Formats: sequence, C-alpha cells, structure tokens
Amino acid sequence: MSDQQNTPEQTPEAQPDIAKQPESIEAAAAADETVNVWDAEVQLADDATSGEPVQSETIIEPLDPHFVPKLEEDQPAHDADELFDCTIIGGGPTGLYGAFYAGMREMKTKIIDSLGELGGQVSALYPEKLIYDVAGFPAVKGKELIQGCIEQGLQFGPAVCLGEKVEHLEKHPDGLFTLTTEASHGVMKQHRTKTLIVAAGVGAFAPRKLPGAQPELDALEGTEVFYFVKDLEVFRDQNILIVGGGDSAMDWAMMLEPLAKSTTLIHRRDKWRAHEDSVKKVLASSVDVRTFVEVKSVEVEGAKIQSAVVFNNKTKAEDTLPVDKIVMCLGFIANIGPIKEWGLEIEAGGIKVDPGSMASNIPGIYAAGDIARYEGKLGLIATGFGEAATAANYAKHHVDPHSRVFPGHSSERDGH
Ligand SMILES: Cc1cc2nc3c(=O)[nH]c(=O)nc-3n(C[C@H](O)[C@H](O)[C@H](O)COP(=O)(O)OP(=O)(O)OC[C@H]3O[C@@H](n4cnc5c(N)ncnc54)[C@H](O)[C@@H]3O)c2cc1C
Repeated sequence: MSDQQNTPEQTPEAQPDIAKQPESIEAAAAADETVNVWDAEVQLADDATSGEPVQSETIIEPLDPHFVPKLEEDQPAHDADELFDCTIIGGGPTGLYGAFYAGMREMKTKIIDSLGELGGQVSALYPEKLIYDVAGFPAVKGKELIQGCIEQGLQFGPAVCLGEKVEHLEKHPDGLFTLTTEASHGVMKQHRTKTLIVAAGVGAFAPRKLPGAQPELDALEGTEVFYFVKDLEVFRDQNILIVGGGDSAMDWAMMLEPLAKSTTLIHRRDKWRAHEDSVKKVLASSVDVRTFVEVKSVEVEGAKIQSAVVFNNKTKAEDTLPVDKIVMCLGFIANIGPIKEWGLEIEAGGIKVDPGSMASNIPGIYAAGDIARYEGKLGLIATGFGEAATAANYAKHHVDPHSRVFPGHSSERDGH
C-alpha cells in the first residue's frame, strides 16, 4: 500500500449536467468544455479532429451472438463497394436495438462506432452502475444490459466496424449514401448504404489521451499503451502504470494487481471519482497509489516502454518508475463535430426529426436515441429503444416502399 495519505471522496467538481439540459450541449461543445453527463465527466469537443479513434476493426458476419466483438488484428476487411440496406452510426443501446430491428426486417445492416467496443455511454462510462428504468429489468448493471443488447442486436449478423469515426457523408443523385470513416493513424475507409440511422448519442467517443503525450506513444496503442483492457495475460509479470482516479482505474488496478510484477496507480488529485468501496479495496492492496502525481515523460526503446518519469504536481518532486505497460483511464471525449457538417437540420445540438418516423430532413436518414431532437424529447435508454424501432421500420419502408412500416408482432414470427 502507498505511504501517502489518500482521502476517498465522492464529490466531483460542480459542472453542468448535460443530460438534464440538452439545450446547453451545443454551447458546451463549442467551448470544448468538460461537462457532466448524468454524473460522469465527459469532455465535449466540437471539431472534427479531436478525439482520435482507437485501433480499427471490421467484423463481418456471421457473428456468434455470445461473442462480444473485441479489437483483434486479423479480422477480415470488408469490401468498400458492398452496399448495405441500413447503416447505423453508434453501437450504444439505441444502435444495437436498431440493428436487431433492421435485421428482423431482413435488411443488410452495418454498425459503425468510433470506440473499440460496443455499448456506447453505458459501457464507456458506467458499466458497473445499476440502471432501474429499463423495461423488464427492475435493476440491471450497465454491462449486463449491454451484454443482452449485444446478443439481441447481433443475432441477424450485422457487420460491425469498431474504431472508426464517421467523418463525412455524401448523398448521391440515386439516393444512396457514402460514409467516410477515419480509423487509427488517419486510415480512411468508405461505406455505402441505402439508409442511415444516426444513433450517435452525445457524439463520437474516444478515450482521452494524456495532455501533451509524446506522439510516439500513439504507435504503441494496444501493445504497450492501453485504453481498453481486453486480454489480461498481456499484463502478466509486467510493471504496470495505471493513470486515472475513476471506477475503471480502480477496477483495472484490482484486476491486474494479482498477476502483475508491480502495479502503480497515479492520479493528479486526491479526490476520486470512483465508488468509495473500490477506492478502499485498492488502498488496502499492494497497489502503489500516488496522488497529486502525473506523467512527465515515458522512455521508449524500440517498440517497448522502459520507464516513466512521474512528478508530484504540488512539490514538483520527480520519480522514475520501471514501467512495461501503461493503462490510461482518463475518461472519454465525445465529439459531435462531424455530424453537423452533413446538411442535417440541427436543433439544440442534436438532429431534428419527425417523432412519428424519426426521419431527418434528408430522405433516407433517420436519427434515434440521445442525438435525436423533437419537442418533449427525453434522453433515456427506454426512449432510444422505441425510437430505434421506429427508425428501422421506416428505413425498411424507404428501402422497399412495398413493405409495410408496421412489422407485425415478433411473437408471431415462428408461426405459433
Ligand atoms: C453516468 C450515466 C448514467 C446514466 N444512467 C441512466 C439511467 O439510469 N437510465 C437511462 O435511461 N439513461 C441513463 N443514462 C443515459 C443513457 O446512457 C443514454 O441515454 C444512452 O446511452 C443513449 O444511448 P445511445 O445509443 O443513443 O447513445 P450512446 O450510448 O451515447 O452511444 C452512441 C455511440 O455512437 C458513437 N458515435 C457517435 N458519433 C459517431 C461517429 N461520428 N462515428 C462513429 N461512432 C460515433 C459513440 O462512440 C457511441 O458509442 C446515463 C448516462 C450516464 C453518462
């Protein structure tokens, strides 16, 4: 345990709560402000360049519904010319439910998300929190809800493209669309589609990076520097540096400590954004916890991290730590920037839609979930599900005008 005095506190600095004031999201994004979305801290950005996406991955059908897509090197690349009936921007709860519905309506469907994992805000910001207001679940942990959404959403085998931020939208005279995405290290890809459901929440999520971090660390993402931990074995017998003071920093400290050679957790303040119980467990463990401490520089030799120089931001005292792997738990940047450039009617920082069909001002483009705006809008998971179902059914009708908008009851699908 650290010899420093640590005071677990649960009092985040007061910031505007965007979820309760969606009309202020535009101004907050324009000012690149850090805001609270419910009680999680998110930095909003309003330009198309902030929030570099993480490593890119494309997964093509068939997908085992019990398999949660992860970033892996050798997934097949999809054919850029392949035309999809319905492309969904956003793999949060709304996008996943939209993928389920589009699949049930026999549309060839694709999900694109800037993050390296599915689940949107729920996975990124509060996987361990209990949610009480999703129909059918008196109380459900965020990660369990998302596991169910993934199983349901992927059962018809949509293509899933993770780690790609949609930057540009082009509408062609024949009514088709081409989306251009940017993946890691500036790799651009194209996706063709007949319809689009924008389920982009509060914008493209990307892990927040260390302020002023050395550019060479970018190339080490996924091997030496991690924003998401997928494979614990990578950390066995390693000297691990965890940066951050929230729940994910605490969770990874507890997960990695038993198999690591050493685990050090540094945080720039002495106030934690994590559950008090998690903080207590970490402080009672062998994790070397240091508060008011930040990274000054990282020594890299070849493609390997050797050590990190950290400094106390109060005393300015420096220390060199042996480090093999760094896990950054610095929160996320949400960037709504690119979507505003696509000719969609924007209202209160979201996409204005007709609530009866979730159609935007551009025929063939629908919006659902937190990004959709209409009078009386409630930014809830429950409303996102309903909106996704509406959007997918109208998208089906757009692709095939002979098909009915109303899908019939799913319980009658088996003929019983
Ligand atoms: C701490 C916290 C607690 C909450 N608790 C509750 C609760 O108890 N009950 C409740 O109903 N709601 C709750 N919410 C709100 C709820 O999480 C949101 O309403 C819900 O996540 C919205 O889902 P979504 O799919 O519309 O958007 P998101 O979950 O935000 O997902 C959108 C996805 O789109 C991706 N994306 C955006 N733009 C692009 C782009 N250009 N290219 C590629 N990908 C893009 C993002 O990376 C993201 O993954 C809570 C939110 C927070 C932060």
